[in-house]
Amino acid sequence: MNYARTFRDNPQGEALYTYGTTAFAEIFSVSGCLPINNFRLGQADDPASISGDAYNRVLLKKRKGCYACPIQCKRRIALKDTQYDIKGRYGGLEYETIAALGTNLNIVDLKAIAKGNEICNRYCLDTISAGMTIAFACECFEAGIINTQDTDGLELRFGDSDLMLRLLPMIAQRQGFGDVLAEGSARLAQRWEVTDISANLTVKGQEIPMHDPRVKVGVNLEIVI
Ligand code: SF4
Repeated sequence: MNYARTFRDNPQGEALYTYGTTAFAEIFSVSGCLPINNFRLGQADDPASISGDAYNRVLLKKRKGCYACPIQCKRRIALKDTQYDIKGRYGGLEYETIAALGTNLNIVDLKAIAKGNEICNRYCLDTISAGMTIAFACECFEAGIINTQDTDGLELRFGDSDLMLRLLPMIAQRQGFGDVLAEGSARLAQRWEVTDISANLTVKGQEIPMHDPRVKVGVNLEIVI
């Protein structure tokens, strides 16, 4: 029997092909471990808006992958509407980016998140580090640790997709407040004297991935060490 041909005959195989990793945002939200507002919360108000089905409906154009693999996990996306022009050549976003540039900044607009993915890929920015650094800055701003004098007048708030899309090129080109953010969360924590490890979510200077350590305890081990 040909393994590749029968792979999708079971629900898990079919789901892996249909969604790749994009199903995890909704699944993690139901499980209470989807990063939201710099890991302050674990469930989205409207998980359907960032679900695998929404992704396939709004963004997906084609599936691609490695030779003979039945999963074909790579997403090909493209979109052109009145608000966004998303080029297919920068690749489709996967779960980590949906969370890092999306839910962890309290952004649930898949089109805006896909545009952020495009910007990061164009400038070779890691979406997790970029999104987590913006989330850390938003938390520091909302806590009053920094203010508009530190941010060149920018109001850093969760849920602001325009802010995310404005900051990413500023980080890549080290312009204005983007030059500060380009240092990453760990150095910003030193600069802003943040000692609360529940806000500065880094391990050995690197931002953690989009897996809540309160549920995935293996990730927690990294943070404790
Ligand atoms: S083998 Fe390639 S296409 Fe298949 S799941 Fe792995 S990375 Fe994706």
